[in-house]
Amino acid sequence: MKTVQLSSGRTVPSLGLGTWNMGENDAHHQREVRALQLGLDLGMNLIDTAEMYGDGGAEEVVGDAIAGRRGSVYLVSKVYPHNATFKGVQAACERSLKRLKTDYLDCYLLHWRGSVPLAETLDGFKALKQAGKIRDYGVSNFDLDDMEEARSLDGGDGIVTNQVLYNLTRRGIEWNLLPWSQQHNIPVMAYSPLESSTPGEQRVLLGNRSLLAVAERHSATPAQIALAWLLRQDQVIVIPKSSNPDHVQLNRKAADIILTADDLAELDKGFPRPRKGTPLDMR
Ligand code: NAP
Repeated sequence: MKTVQLSSGRTVPSLGLGTWNMGENDAHHQREVRALQLGLDLGMNLIDTAEMYGDGGAEEVVGDAIAGRRGSVYLVSKVYPHNATFKGVQAACERSLKRLKTDYLDCYLLHWRGSVPLAETLDGFKALKQAGKIRDYGVSNFDLDDMEEARSLDGGDGIVTNQVLYNLTRRGIEWNLLPWSQQHNIPVMAYSPLESSTPGEQRVLLGNRSLLAVAERHSATPAQIALAWLLRQDQVIVIPKSSNPDHVQLNRKAADIILTADDLAELDKGFPRPRKGTPLDMR
């Protein structure tokens, strides 16, 4: 499995596991736990969750999935912007740790930018780090100007990642945010790599002719090629969500697919590169 080195010195796999839409229905709990455990068995040792997902329910699913194997998992959770005051992050982190049944997070992200001054959130993250409650911290849904501002603040140089919407149909970050992030050694964590769990939206991506043609050449599924396209890039971490064991297996195998220059050119035709800067897309 390809890995990405964070500026904190930690190494994480390029392919991890998302959890949005998990923890919303007790009847699906065991299936979701097993899907995450399978992903971990296959080496996708990074789990992304958030206090928001399933109102804490996703963190509870993750807590069960990592039981007995906590040390081998790079565990990421996110704080709501409205909880991102100095005191608020301490309290939100404690609640997350309780649901996750662990005593530290590997990485704590600000889910998106809200009205709390960024400097205060960073102070909160630094205090949590000092207390051993989190090992790394970062941000999510930050555009280039947000990143530049964050980096100029005390503690901004400790930001290890920016989690953003990035997939074949959402290539806007290639204009300036992605190259800037690569230059500054801040890996991007690509969320919704398959363009979400909304079937209509996903169809635009997975039904694309260029994607289907490349998939056929590799005897792979369109979803696998969409993941392989992201995974080929340095400093990009990819976190597809799946509760389906067959999909988890397929997603793991996507990390072994090597796309050729012809494949990439064909995908560029089907999903054109950005020709100008646009505001960051987000969900
Ligand atoms: P996604 O991973 O792009 O897509 C998930 C959907 O794709 C699910 O419906 C899943 O269904 C399906 N799927 C998974 N593997 C597949 C495969 N091999 N073939 C066909 N379908 C497949 O969407 P996402 O959940 O929005 O994004 C991934 C993760 O990023 C989230 O779970 C979350 O952790 C994070 N995220 C972060 C933010 C943020 O603001 N920071 C926003 C959105 C998401 P099955 O479960 O049935 O496999």
